[in-house]
Amino acid sequence: MDDRRRRVIPHYASVHICSSEPLRRYNQDCSVIAPFSLPLPMYLTDAVFFTLLFSVMYYLLHRWRDKISTSTPLHVVNYSEIAAIVAFVASVIYLLRFYGIGLVQSDPDGIGNDSWERRDESPERSIDRTTALSPVRRNIPMRSVRVAAYPAQIITASLPEEDEVVIESVVSGRIPSYSLESKFADCTRAASNHKDALERVTAKSLQGLPLDAFDYESTLGQCCEMPIGYVQIPVGIAGPMLLDGNEFSVPMATTEGCLVASTNRGFKAIYLSGGATSVLLKDGMTRAPVVRFGTAKRASDLKFFLEEPLNFETLASVFNKSSRFGRLQRIQCAIAGKNLYIRFTCSTGDAMGMNMISKGVQNVLDYLQVDFPDMDVIGISGNYCSDKKPAAVNWIEGRGKSVVCEAIISDEVVKKVLKTTVASLVELNMLKNLTGSAIAGALGGFNAHASNIVSAVYLATGQDPAQNIESSHCITMMEAVNDGKDLHVSVTMPSIEVGTVGGGAQLASQSACLNLLGVKGANKELAGSNARQLAKIVASSVLAGELSLMSAIAAGQLVKSHMKYNRSSKDVSTMAKTA
Ligand code: ADP
Repeated sequence: MDDRRRRVIPHYASVHICSSEPLRRYNQDCSVIAPFSLPLPMYLTDAVFFTLLFSVMYYLLHRWRDKISTSTPLHVVNYSEIAAIVAFVASVIYLLRFYGIGLVQSDPDGIGNDSWERRDESPERSIDRTTALSPVRRNIPMRSVRVAAYPAQIITASLPEEDEVVIESVVSGRIPSYSLESKFADCTRAASNHKDALERVTAKSLQGLPLDAFDYESTLGQCCEMPIGYVQIPVGIAGPMLLDGNEFSVPMATTEGCLVASTNRGFKAIYLSGGATSVLLKDGMTRAPVVRFGTAKRASDLKFFLEEPLNFETLASVFNKSSRFGRLQRIQCAIAGKNLYIRFTCSTGDAMGMNMISKGVQNVLDYLQVDFPDMDVIGISGNYCSDKKPAAVNWIEGRGKSVVCEAIISDEVVKKVLKTTVASLVELNMLKNLTGSAIAGALGGFNAHASNIVSAVYLATGQDPAQNIESSHCITMMEAVNDGKDLHVSVTMPSIEVGTVGGGAQLASQSACLNLLGVKGANKELAGSNARQLAKIVASSVLAGELSLMSAIAAGQLVKSHMKYNRSSKDVSTMAKTA
């Protein structure tokens, strides 16, 4: 752990110092050393000085009484009395610095209490107000006293002076937090300062949110602004999946117990039945700006212009200038009064493609403006795209990659691996995934839990998790085949939005997961084939997940297995108390 961070003591630590169990553990765990005096944990140093003080006081009083009874002058002292006096003075100085001066100097600027009054009184804050450590108590150089007096009371004993000044400026609002990356060339240092400033401003501890061992440089300008750390999600592995004759081990980032195990069981059933087959039906990202005219007639003029096949080539050449990979495929229009929604579809190579298509769309709008000067571009996205929202247009027309994936599961595997029967699965699928979802008015939700698998694979491979909404559109079909002996199962997913370049896909850990699947980065031979392969892997993983969950429900095992894998035997109430 970075030394600077280890020595940042969150304000809540001060609440417990010297007395309570949590801090005792905190001190032991984090090796918080008293910043001056003995090289011992703070609570031990305190104990040593208290013991010393009371011992020498007892000794000196005892000697004083002896001298009075023997009429010896008090100022005549021997060596052991000198030593006792020195020890007495030393322990008084130590304890005064630690407890006494701190009490009178805890608000040197006189701003702390006022700002306390103005702030909401959270329980942590009200505790902190009475027991907060002063900077002096922590032996912090005086330059940091002002900062330490902020409500958060985060003590930063060993930050370099420049960082301390910057954090203070962020806390006081003199400089914006988002400017730290440009201030420090070092992104980790900027992240550390974002975090420290936030702890002070909010008076909330971020202990547990890791900061180190992450390449913040790689997220700069493309993945995350003002980072303060990273959230850890375990990555499980399911497979091997036998898909189109190739084996894949599928990484899944999730905190839902059972999910990986269940998908793994589905993979096994598919593998033992000869594998799954997938077909890519379509590949095209969409973006739909909204433009407005003075009349519906003018909006219709543009609609007819855009839909005229003779104009497509010109529009495509304008669109395609934006990228080597973005190739315009289609333009669809929808009118609402004077407003025109233009849905562009284009191929995007191995990128998921939102940036790419937006640039192409902008080129076309600029071009159209010349012939349609009365066109008012209201927005580059008019929601007819439709990105990250449930929308029938994606379910019907597709967005990103449209994939169908199927397998025939033998009767024997259904019984031995999935512990159910073909007839039960077919019936359950009809009543749950088809009829039940129809009754619920589902939009693309004719499945058991496609979004579970989509989300876990998306997180592991650096996809945009918000696109889970349309990417999880899926209809799961099950039919008895081969005279009712075997099960034909398929998933049809019209809007799988994935990329293997750009965005989160280029981060180290996500990139490692893509590498495991053999689809890391841009495909050098055939642009777009890595992203298409990833979409097929997503669909086949959903197929496995559907098969396994549906079997668990059909066999009545769902609750039992969740209680086994999804519920820790640890006493959560105790954990909450000790956390
Ligand atoms: P998105 O459009 O998904 O947001 P980015 O714009 O972040 O993605 O990333 C795409 C970038 O990657 C573009 O600059 C593009 O030129 C580049 N690139 C390199 N190789 C490929 C490839 N095989 N397919 C797509 N884009 C590629």
